[in-house]
Amino acid sequence: MKIKLFLIIMTLVATTTAHARLNVVASLPDFGSIAEEVGGDKVKVTTICRGTEDAHFVDARPSFVRVLNQADVLVEGGAELEIGWLPPLVGSARNGKILSDAPGHVVLSRKIRLLEVPTGPIDRSMGDVHPLGNPHYWLDPENGKIIADELAEAFSRLDSANAAYYRANEQKFNERLDKKIVEWKKLMEPYRGTKVATYHKSFEYFAERFGLVIAGQIEPKPGIEPSPSYINSLVPRLKNEGVKLVLVEPFRPHKTPEYLAKAIGAKLLVMPEKVGGNEKVKDYFSLFDYDVDQIVTALKQAK
Ligand SMILES: [Zn+2]
Repeated sequence: MKIKLFLIIMTLVATTTAHARLNVVASLPDFGSIAEEVGGDKVKVTTICRGTEDAHFVDARPSFVRVLNQADVLVEGGAELEIGWLPPLVGSARNGKILSDAPGHVVLSRKIRLLEVPTGPIDRSMGDVHPLGNPHYWLDPENGKIIADELAEAFSRLDSANAAYYRANEQKFNERLDKKIVEWKKLMEPYRGTKVATYHKSFEYFAERFGLVIAGQIEPKPGIEPSPSYINSLVPRLKNEGVKLVLVEPFRPHKTPEYLAKAIGAKLLVMPEKVGGNEKVKDYFSLFDYDVDQIVTALKQAK
């Protein structure tokens, strides 16, 4: 009898909490991870883009329309990162809470200092997917704090009864992140100035924070695949620059990067640039733990 009563009460508690929680949909798992830190048990987070997918070209499955229809909050990176796939999903979701002017629509890039903002007229004829500047800013962990602040502000606005809770979680997240940033910078310090090449301009913020120098990209322009002759033109230049590492996201084809790395005498690293990029990268902290460790281990061996 006691057990039965206990179960009934637990079910009631579970039902009430489920209704009270903010339903948060994040475009990317990194934003989702920080939303979980800030929102704690007051939010339920669903992520659209997988850690093993290209954030510019997400497979916008129809099931996401249902997810967005139920959302209280939509969190997107902005700077046109998701422009190819998110607006049509939001359009089909018929949910006034997450339309662009609604309080439930959070664009995280608002307060971020974007790198590579074009100064001249924008020419999209070649399909550059970074027309407003580089949108891969979550790879600077200092920007993680700006993201957390935006999320705490949005959650507090929509659920003011728990505002103090969200702000306290934000502070805990920031303190933990600050400690980790010191740790990561210390690990990377001996390798300051190391030259690397990347596939896409995904690692500019990471490089800037941790003192790597990006000497070139496999893509001739963001979002444009290279021709064999373009790759061959890169070889002497990158070799001359003394590039030590070629960094490639998990979802890229590996054949061309392997060829390039071999030709210039560099090491190829598959570097997750999002939470979920591999099974070890489970949250925003382990993303940097993993990537920093990979780079440090590779450069230690190269010495
Ligand atoms: Zn990009």
